[in-house]
Amino acid sequence: MSFSTAVNCMDGRVQKEVFRFCRSRFLSKYVDMITEPGPNRILAEQDPPHLVESILARIDISIEKHASKGIAVVGHHDCAGNPAGEEIQKEHLEYAVKFLREHYPSVEVTALWVNEKWDVKEVPF
Ligand SMILES: [Zn+2]
Repeated sequence: MSFSTAVNCMDGRVQKEVFRFCRSRFLSKYVDMITEPGPNRILAEQDPPHLVESILARIDISIEKHASKGIAVVGHHDCAGNPAGEEIQKEHLEYAVKFLREHYPSVEVTALWVNEKWDVKEVPF
C-alpha cells in the first residue's frame, strides 16, 4: 500500500483529476483526500483557525498512519470557496506550501493548479 495526500477543494469537478495526478506524481496507489472549500486560501491566511487545525489533524493521520509519500495543496479555476483570480490564488498556494513545509519538513509538499479545462498543473515554489 502506498499513499499520498491531497489538500483539495471540496468541488466535485476537481476530485478525479487531482486523484489521478497525485497517484502518478507521488507513485501512490491511494490518495488521502482532505477537502475544504478553497483550502489554499485557508492555509495561506491561516483562517479560520479551526479549519487549519482540522486540516493539520487529517494530514497528521495521513502521514503517521499511512506513511504518505507527499502532500499536494490545490487551487482551481472558478472556486466558490476562494473566488480570487488565478494570480492571487497562486500566491495563496505559495504561502500554503510554505506553511505545510514548516509543519512537515520531512515530507515533500507541492502545489497544484486546476485550470478552466480541468487540467492539473504542478506549480513549482
Ligand atoms: Zn473550490
